[in-house]
Amino acid sequence: MTLHLYNTAHRKKEEFVPMEPGKVGMYVCGPTVYDRAHIGNARPVVIFDVLARLLRHQGYELTYVRNITDVEDKIIDAAAKNGESIDALTTRTTQAYHDDMAALNALPPDLEPRATEHIDGMIRMISKLIEKGHAYEAEGHVLFDVTSMADYGKLSGRNREEMIEGARVEIAPHKKDPADFVLWKPSTGDMPGWDSPFGRGRPGWHIECSVMSEATLGITFDIHGGGRDLIFPHHENEVAQSCCAHDGAPFARYWVHNGFLMVDGKKMSKSLGNFRTVQDVLEEAPGEAVRLYMLKTPYRKPLNWTDYGLDQAKTEMSKLYIVLKDFDEVKTGPLEPNPEVVSALSDDLDTHAAFIKIQNLAKQLRREKNIAEQSRLKGQLIASGQLMGLLEKTWQEYFKGRIEGQVATLTISISEEKIESLIAERDEAKKQKNYARADEIRDNLKAEGIVLEDGPGGTTWKRA
Ligand code: AMP
Ligand code: ZN
Repeated sequence: MTLHLYNTAHRKKEEFVPMEPGKVGMYVCGPTVYDRAHIGNARPVVIFDVLARLLRHQGYELTYVRNITDVEDKIIDAAAKNGESIDALTTRTTQAYHDDMAALNALPPDLEPRATEHIDGMIRMISKLIEKGHAYEAEGHVLFDVTSMADYGKLSGRNREEMIEGARVEIAPHKKDPADFVLWKPSTGDMPGWDSPFGRGRPGWHIECSVMSEATLGITFDIHGGGRDLIFPHHENEVAQSCCAHDGAPFARYWVHNGFLMVDGKKMSKSLGNFRTVQDVLEEAPGEAVRLYMLKTPYRKPLNWTDYGLDQAKTEMSKLYIVLKDFDEVKTGPLEPNPEVVSALSDDLDTHAAFIKIQNLAKQLRREKNIAEQSRLKGQLIASGQLMGLLEKTWQEYFKGRIEGQVATLTISISEEKIESLIAERDEAKKQKNYARADEIRDNLKAEGIVLEDGPGGTTWKRA
């Protein structure tokens, strides 16, 4: 089935054709390891894990690379604050990251380069950029000269003013142009540093990914991914460095970016302090339910995280496992995903449509009387779930320790108390003229089989 992906570089959905038939190289920007990951950080991991599973299902030989940024100023600051060595901090947080992502059923990447293992390559690329007139030294720094590249700004579509104002661009006196960005910076005292032709120092963040992607996948490769906050400046700057170091040779061919995970309409981020760590959320819900919540919204759209949304994903995940429990005796047929699920995912990773199809498969299985057909549907249901990294456990494993012995009598439905509180929240949203939220609540309740009726005396509800 032909895969289509929305390519940020061309701002449209395109047919995916790999550079080399049958092979795909995919690079996704990984974490800066200084703290526990929050659920916003986990969104790209889950999304690109589905893309990796889909590519493999379609028969591609995939090399999936996700780096670890283990040298960056946030790491230096956090280690000093904790009174911990940089090595101890990055080792501890890398392990925590692996544990958290595994709990969300994200498979490890094939290669996980660490920035500190590629410093020589970074020094070489920076030297090349200086030689070719794209970079210059100033006060112990090396800066990329953005005026040396005619196409600078093309990926993000930003004009000069927007780029200068853009996040993370430091205005510093030693820059020739305010939009120039750092390739190398001096390290003093006990800061991590490496000797280089430009003095003892450490790399800027952007050069790390240009070098690690080339070292693992080559100069030109198929897919580059990350959250949309990385389009500018991080990815724009990767393009500038890599293309200029290789005399204009193309860099990533398809740029894929996920939308933000939000809280109350704002991007979840460490700096705003509105984050929930993956570890915290795993206390409230099984990893597969957290993953499902992330996948119910198409990846390019914002996902507003709410307790109610998580509850709903928990219920939906349990319902699927209850079907597996009720059909435990039925032999699992061939583990072939349903073609409509594959087709939804192949349409720019429409995980929302794919999950609705999975729910329908479960309903179909419930109604089916023919044993052979039950067996076939059960195989399809499990394989379709697994293509999205769901239904990877047995029902016994999934329910273990959570509702001991009660699975048989479990009925999952939203409580009256919850319905009343959502109606109150909807009334408030309408007062605030937040009709989008009001409609969202009505639609979510409808999905639970609860119909709202607005009348002169207020809103009433009934089970459909
Ligand atoms: P960072 O450590 O901030 O560079 O983020 C690691 C990855 O998480 C990057 O791909 C970011 O784009 C992504 N990311 C960070 N915050 C969010 C968020 N609130 N929603 C979705 N993705 C995010
Ligand atoms: Zn990167």
